[in-house]
Amino acid sequence: MSEQRKARVATVSLAGCFGCHMALLDMDLRLVELMKLVEFDRSPLNDLKRFTRRCDIGIIEGGCCNEENVHVLQDFRENCDVLIALGQCAITGGLPAMRNAIMHSDDPLRECLEEAYIASPYIRNATHVIPNDPALPLILDKVYPCSAVVKIDYQIPGCAPSGDIIYETLAQLLAGRFHGFDPHTIHFD
Ligand code: SF4
Repeated sequence: MSEQRKARVATVSLAGCFGCHMALLDMDLRLVELMKLVEFDRSPLNDLKRFTRRCDIGIIEGGCCNEENVHVLQDFRENCDVLIALGQCAITGGLPAMRNAIMHSDDPLRECLEEAYIASPYIRNATHVIPNDPALPLILDKVYPCSAVVKIDYQIPGCAPSGDIIYETLAQLLAGRFHGFDPHTIHFD
């Protein structure tokens, strides 16, 4: 990375809740310091939906639950030198991956969709139709962690990760070396 320019960072939320993006804000005033070193390319933070240039760091929230997630993740791998899986959903599939445990029938995905859109006592769906508009991305058979789809270089654990661990990781990477983080900064609350 040239010393003359800021590092380019891209972020995305796949099958996540945006809690990990909110956690970026938990860096508080250190975010101001960080902004002296980085500029954001494709990210929900600036609403840029495509890469404008190759990036140094890509930060991924969420795992892959549909084909669009897979394509976006592959696009990040192609356009970023370093990929970081941010939070448990990106690392393990997290909460959305709870559907992976539904396997009572021969068609677990169908069973899951019927529970979500028809059978649940909290659903009012008089047509009993499961959404199937062609514009909707195809749902995968399971929810996959990012590392099952592309090579992931670093993982930042937590749900959501603490601002401390995010800052510590980014600061180390921007300094050109990563020597791990303090386990006390790992949070699951
Ligand atoms: Fe949300 Fe937690 Fe998943 Fe982050 S790891 S996207 S905060 S559920």
